[in-house]
Amino acid sequence: MSTSRDRDLGLFRNISRRDFIGTVAVGLGAASVLGSGELGAQSFAGATGIVGDPYPPALSGLRGDHLGSFEAAHRMRDAGWALVDAIDTRETYDLIVVGGGISGLAAAHYFRQKASAEARVLVLDNHDDFGGHAKRNEFTHDGRTWIGYGGTQSIDSPRPYSANARALISDLGIDVSRYATVVDNGLYPSFGLGPAMFFDRETFGEDRLVTGASRIPSAEFLERTPLPAEVQAQIIQLHSEQRDLLPGLDSAAKKAQLARMSYADFVTKVWGLDPRVLSLYDTRTHTLFGFGVDAVPAQDAFGLGLPGFQGMALDDAAGPGQNHDSMHSADAEAYQFHFPDGNASIARLLMRGLIPAAVPGSTADDIVTARIDYAKLDETSSRTRVRLGSTVVRVAHNGPVESANDVTVHYVRDGKLYRARAGNTVLACWHHVIPYLCPDLPAPQLAALHYAKKVPLVYTNVFIRQWTALETLRVSSVSSPGMWHTSTNLDFPVSIGDYAHTRKPSEPVVLHMNKAACKPGLPGPQQHRVGRAELMATPFETIERSIRDQLGRTFGGGGFDPAADILGITVNRWPHGYAYQYNSLADPFWIDGGEEPCVAARRPSGRIAIANADAAAYSYTDAAIDQARRAVDELHN
Ligand SMILES: Cc1cc2nc3c(=O)[nH]c(=O)nc-3n(C[C@H](O)[C@H](O)[C@H](O)COP(=O)(O)OP(=O)(O)OC[C@H]3O[C@@H](n4cnc5c(N)ncnc54)[C@H](O)[C@@H]3O)c2cc1C
Repeated sequence: MSTSRDRDLGLFRNISRRDFIGTVAVGLGAASVLGSGELGAQSFAGATGIVGDPYPPALSGLRGDHLGSFEAAHRMRDAGWALVDAIDTRETYDLIVVGGGISGLAAAHYFRQKASAEARVLVLDNHDDFGGHAKRNEFTHDGRTWIGYGGTQSIDSPRPYSANARALISDLGIDVSRYATVVDNGLYPSFGLGPAMFFDRETFGEDRLVTGASRIPSAEFLERTPLPAEVQAQIIQLHSEQRDLLPGLDSAAKKAQLARMSYADFVTKVWGLDPRVLSLYDTRTHTLFGFGVDAVPAQDAFGLGLPGFQGMALDDAAGPGQNHDSMHSADAEAYQFHFPDGNASIARLLMRGLIPAAVPGSTADDIVTARIDYAKLDETSSRTRVRLGSTVVRVAHNGPVESANDVTVHYVRDGKLYRARAGNTVLACWHHVIPYLCPDLPAPQLAALHYAKKVPLVYTNVFIRQWTALETLRVSSVSSPGMWHTSTNLDFPVSIGDYAHTRKPSEPVVLHMNKAACKPGLPGPQQHRVGRAELMATPFETIERSIRDQLGRTFGGGGFDPAADILGITVNRWPHGYAYQYNSLADPFWIDGGEEPCVAARRPSGRIAIANADAAAYSYTDAAIDQARRAVDELHN
């Protein structure tokens, strides 16, 4: 039901095309949902939820795990598919890869290197675009295109890239050392813009945007916040007071204790401070762990530079059970690169190597503006084929595992079940899916595969007409701990090849917003489970309303009008986002010792090898690449 508030927010304006159906349609074929008449004059192509222009990066509305991408897998989980009904494609490949993310595409790349460029390879992925989490979002206005990242943001990993991963990046033509020449870090500061915090009335009693935010908040900044004076004083205390809270222990022993308590407990119980102090820090860990400081070990908070440890004489050596994200490596920090579409450019460069006819151009610069010919991804004449909108529901050896010469792969496309054969398979899909594909794997391996619980996240891109309101307010990024999206940033000012980033506040720009779907108070993995269910059940309309409301309240003081200024919205919903990374509060083996589940999970079985970032329990592109390499090395031939 439209309200006058909705109309003020511009909720039902005709912006960049959106998928009108945002909630779960489990049990219904997507085609039947789309055929219900809700789309009015919009056209749709096939059963993948594509509305209007079927060029996948240009689609907006609810993306990420979009409508049509998950229903067949959920049916596999809940009811199963009758394999006897499968249509035989009569296709035979040397390799079938399940999952067209960076790991799957890298596996295809390595297999062709190992076997031959003539090898016949099929990549199957359930989405309408390839790249997995590395997702490109495009917006067009007045004949010009703006590019955003809908998932995997950057080449940027807390651990140094391995020699193998570096070699692939270099072979793709990416010169990471060039990054400083393509990013204009001075752009937003040249207009006087900087970080701010938005305090919302529901959480803090009033709406207030406070500029001048920084990792170490100044007294002057705090005085302008609606936080009570005693909380402000405690925040200053937490940053400045030299207290050793675990006296008599050496650094390692202190860290061992900090590893077993949350940062929230460290601040409220060990320091004894008001829980409202945490409002400044709680969402800082969202983009790394997918939850706040109530579930982040205090030792990891120390590694991430959160305050309160300055008097404890902790050294920089990795402590017991320390998470990779909270460790520092100068080598890793120097190895960074952001394409306008994030690491979707890596997926697109891999695709150029696999199917050159589909991807015009020849350099890592021209990939940024290359328009991919999706019709060429699955041509009969091609040795390598990529079949999108195809959910694999069973992978089984033809005969005993030890002696089978090939494998049959069943997949669902447009609601129909198909089968194809391959000499080898690499499962580069999410590990929690594999037990349904291969239920005959040994029970301990199935349990280990189930352990990989993905982290639910949302990466939203809002395409706005101009950023004059942000200029007026002197804001380039906002942390908003009480809002649905907890951060909002002007897009990276990166210009590569023919792609030039917006330079003037009067021009359109992409605003990037993040959300971690978490439930404070529960143990970390349970937060992911509950958050995932909530994400799946939240309609696009609800998210759009909250975006418009949030941006209007945050930037309204600078003249931002959500009804007039928003040109497009793309919500990349990732109920199954980051690979789960172990931590010392939730995963006993991580601190007490014992085999990590990912080791048992990734064991090959006959002609089936297992890749994906899940195989390393490490949510970074280098892991996706390295695990692809290992999986291909494990294959028979
Ligand atoms: C929002 C977000 C931001 C990130 N940012 C960064 C970053 O800045 N830097 C970084 O290094 N890493 C980042 N990551 C981690 C990134 O996802 C990994 O680094 C890497 O891209 C994972 O690649 P993958 O191929 O292993 O998995 P995925 O990208 O998940 O690809 C697996 C594919 O398999 C498909 N699949 C699953 N089951 C089936 C099935 N049954 N049949 C067919 N297909 C199936 C999936 O749908 C998916 O498309 C981010 C992740 C997310 C979610």
